[in-house]
Amino acid sequence: MSAKKINIAIDGYSSCGKGTLAKELAKELHYLFIDSGAMYRAVTLAILRNDIEINDVVAIENLLPKLAISFEYNATLHHYQTLLNGDNIETEIRTMEVSNWVSPVSKIEAVRDFLVKQQKAIGTNKGVVMDGRDIGTVVFPDAELKIFMTARPEVRAQRRLTELRQKGDINTTFEEVLENLRSRDLQDSTRLNSPLKQAEDAIVIDNTNINREEQKLLAYKLAYGKIKSLGLNS
Ligand code: C5P
Repeated sequence: MSAKKINIAIDGYSSCGKGTLAKELAKELHYLFIDSGAMYRAVTLAILRNDIEINDVVAIENLLPKLAISFEYNATLHHYQTLLNGDNIETEIRTMEVSNWVSPVSKIEAVRDFLVKQQKAIGTNKGVVMDGRDIGTVVFPDAELKIFMTARPEVRAQRRLTELRQKGDINTTFEEVLENLRSRDLQDSTRLNSPLKQAEDAIVIDNTNINREEQKLLAYKLAYGKIKSLGLNS
């Protein structure tokens, strides 16, 4: 029997729970999970750490080849960590400072070319669940399953705030989080280079009124349905 796998693209607005769903699907199917947003955040952190001006394209182009971004699963903490040149940067890339700079950085063509090339390479052998903004449209246009996630901005902001609080951030306010995600959604969907956009063949999941468990079961059904319809093993 064939053991071929599919690629799953999960796109959508900021703080919709794309990463959570992508991780659950990857675990269920024994696929590789890739958080493409973490890669844009890693480049943003490197730019900030090196005090490079956002419009200094030459300095950014020189920096990119020096950046090795990888992921590691921490079995003790049960979560994925993003590494930059071998150092764990998972906490730093989730700060509001990085969140405020990541969308302008993601517009830079050299940054997108650098990361999209790596993301495409990761998907060559299939068996990848990747979440982001342009996965179904640009990175894996041939993904067998594409999911586009959305939810009401206030609901997303509240979920994100809860996460920040759990990580010990007691200063950021609900309004700041809401403003950050509105601003990122606008910048991400209006940029010229691979904007956030629903692929024509994507299935929309609006999780404003469904809980995590219901969403998970829905996604499993979609994934197993697709795998079965293609006559592949799961
Ligand atoms: O997924 P996350 O919210 O961590 O992504 C952070 C930012 O990275 C997004 O707001 C967007 O600007 C950028 N991004 C992107 N393309 C992707 C993934 C993320 O431009 N595929």
